[in-house]
Amino acid sequence: MPDRRNRPLSPSTKLAQALRYLDQDTGAIVPPIQPSATYARDEDYAIRRSYMYRRDGNPTTEQAEAIIADLEGAEDCMLFSSGMSACMSVIDTLDTGDHVVVPEVMYHGVLQQFQRYEKLGRLKLSYYRAGDIDALRDACRKGETQLVWVESPNNPDWDVTDIAQAAEVAHAAGAKLLTDCTGTPPCATRALELGADFSFHSATKYLNGHSDVTAGALSVREMGAWWEEIEGHRKLQGTVLQSFDAFLLIRGMRTLTLRYERATLNALRIATHFEGHPQVRKVLYPGLESHPDHEIAKRQTHGMYGGMMSIIVKGDEAAAIDVARSVGCFIPPPRSAASRAW
Ligand SMILES: *Cc1c(COP(=O)(O)O)cnc(C)c1O
Repeated sequence: MPDRRNRPLSPSTKLAQALRYLDQDTGAIVPPIQPSATYARDEDYAIRRSYMYRRDGNPTTEQAEAIIADLEGAEDCMLFSSGMSACMSVIDTLDTGDHVVVPEVMYHGVLQQFQRYEKLGRLKLSYYRAGDIDALRDACRKGETQLVWVESPNNPDWDVTDIAQAAEVAHAAGAKLLTDCTGTPPCATRALELGADFSFHSATKYLNGHSDVTAGALSVREMGAWWEEIEGHRKLQGTVLQSFDAFLLIRGMRTLTLRYERATLNALRIATHFEGHPQVRKVLYPGLESHPDHEIAKRQTHGMYGGMMSIIVKGDEAAAIDVARSVGCFIPPPRSAASRAW
């Protein structure tokens, strides 16, 4: 009989048990919320732990970070008060004049920030079509490019970029690779194992999954000088995830794999139903066998494509909004509120 006692726990079990959190004093299995804004020193007036002030972090957030680092196979993870603030810590710690390669189509907020910094003369940008490794290679400048940004699948086109190939291209140019795989969380895509240096997720989405937290998770394959700078930046900006939100995030992550599997099954049914529908021009979903990046998506997500897709209906914008209205599932605003000028 094989000895099963010391088998490693599955990622789903570790998530469900919040990485086996246990309060040694009480036996409690739920991490407490530590809200203190400041921390007293010890009898010798030395700092007791790694934090002395709220901006340094807190034990509740550290537990959430440990859970994500474990799931990612990361050396370390930092949680921020939103996905955007995590991205800004990376962007802000680039040197003036650094060259960055980004997809043409990506999450609008991150793209806007890159373009704002380019306009201010802080950064140089080059673009590639998401999923196109040759275009990515052409956009990289050996010895000059500091960062390659991959969003896979990219929002809202859901093109898939081969992360292992992107890592090769980035590293050959002397750049670091950051992946934003928010659409396929680390229970599906382990970007660091595929060669990414930084793995970013908006934890507002699948990781929390209850629409009551904004959070950004940044994980690193190997800590180094840049990681330290990012940590310092988070501290000075005060963008660490707060303890109450960390508590909610830990609660949310307990069911991540269940929610994500169900989202994938539902999405596959919806995408299959609407592909070729007479009223639909196109279904953009990497889980469909007809999707040009299907094979890469299958490999990179282990067949767990997630729930994000775009359905392009025939007709104009008004026709598309009519569809959303008649589906009844997307919560509509009350008529009076909708007509108010916000
Ligand atoms: C939502 C999202 C972000 C931004 O994260 P927030 O938590 O909303 O600040 C970044 N990238 C992608 C792909 C996203 O979906």
